[in-house]
Amino acid sequence: MTAEIISVGTELLLGNILNTNAQYLSQELAALGITVQRQSTVGDNHDRLADWVREAKDRCDLLVFTGGLGPTADDLTKETVADCYGDTLVFDPEEWDKITAYFAASGRQTTPNNRKQAMVPVHGHKIENRHGTAPGAWFEQEGRCAVLMPGVPGEMKAMWTEQVRPMLLARQNCALHSLTLRVLGGESNLEYKLRPLLENQNPTAAIYCKTGECEIRITARAATDAEGAEKCRAYAKKFYDLLGDAVYDEDVPGLEHTVVRTLKERGLTISAAESCTGGLIAQRLTNVPGASEVFGYGFVTYWAEAKAKLVGVDPAVIHRFNVVSAPVAAQMALGAAKASGADIALSVTGLAGPGGGELLRPVGTVYLGAAREGKVWVKKLFVSRPDRGLIRARAAQGALELALRLAQGKTPEGALLLGEGPGALEALDKAFLTE
Ligand code: ATP
Ligand code: MG
Repeated sequence: MTAEIISVGTELLLGNILNTNAQYLSQELAALGITVQRQSTVGDNHDRLADWVREAKDRCDLLVFTGGLGPTADDLTKETVADCYGDTLVFDPEEWDKITAYFAASGRQTTPNNRKQAMVPVHGHKIENRHGTAPGAWFEQEGRCAVLMPGVPGEMKAMWTEQVRPMLLARQNCALHSLTLRVLGGESNLEYKLRPLLENQNPTAAIYCKTGECEIRITARAATDAEGAEKCRAYAKKFYDLLGDAVYDEDVPGLEHTVVRTLKERGLTISAAESCTGGLIAQRLTNVPGASEVFGYGFVTYWAEAKAKLVGVDPAVIHRFNVVSAPVAAQMALGAAKASGADIALSVTGLAGPGGGELLRPVGTVYLGAAREGKVWVKKLFVSRPDRGLIRARAAQGALELALRLAQGKTPEGALLLGEGPGALEALDKAFLTE
């Protein structure tokens, strides 16, 4: 089946809003095995839209529309597409009752132009909108179909997942199964490594870049869900073979969930001393339901004095090596473990900018520490884009990655272990500065 996505709205053409609907629908349609051949955007203009729809209808099996289903005069997608598919619209009292009830529930009254939204196709059918007032519509002529959904992204997505997607699946006589792999590391080199695997037709695999990690979504079409699951599993193995334990989990919303679960499984607790992340690590950990089993408290040690007072960093060490340095990260992690009694303690000290950078420590330089059983590993991170939010997010992500590896009893990749004896801090500092 071939499809085109047509986004309707002058706002989109003016650049007032970003067309996120088209991106979402492209991904979703690809996962259904429907080939998206074009995306286009048309303003709220009857004639131009009609011309475009007639052309597009000749080219492909399915046209997917979003936008222009509202009550105002410039909302004209339904009327226009009905024309192009040889259909007409008729007033639907049941839909009208729903619209008036929807308004009444929020203490408002309908206006005459709301009646427009209760108009439904005669030959085609309406698509119920459980999250707003404008119903969607389905038109069909000689095997060519059009589906109309609202422009508001939340309403569109709900209508898609609850109704349109199942309808398209049923038409194609198949089930769809998805599996999401979470992978540590940046996108560009991963994409290069995985390119052959991302070009498959069934299952499809798509890569999405997140902060400091990627998500690989594998989707299989099959006669039954069980068969789809089997296909996904077999295809996932190819990714595991290539990526090893960089794949840290499946079907979880983020790294903190895996960290908390791993800590729980192993009966471990965690704490953190955070400087430039200002509590982001604690926030991510406590976002996970049940985090209290593994996280008691952390430290936001922004000032040098706080690093000394709360987690026992030696002021002389700060003075000697700089507050953004491997020795300070090491002492913060060891100190946080001692002060909190947690099995694993993380630390972050870095420069999130925009001010404060220097040649040796440009903005984006971050040292991460992770201590367990008296040992401490330190890792240096450099975020080259001077974006404060990004630097902080990458730092928190990097620290959680260290936590995961220590919880798993593994040696964290790219980190150095603080040695023993009097010259250990110097050696650690030097190892990073000469890197
Ligand atoms: P309404 O009943 O709100 O008028 P509608 O179905 O007529 O809904 P539009 O008027 O086209 O839809 O868009 C409503 C809002 O939805 C826009 O102001 C915009 O914020 C958002 N929106 C519309 N189209 C898109 C799109 N393609 N991508 C992202 N957001 C969109
Ligand atoms: Mg509108």
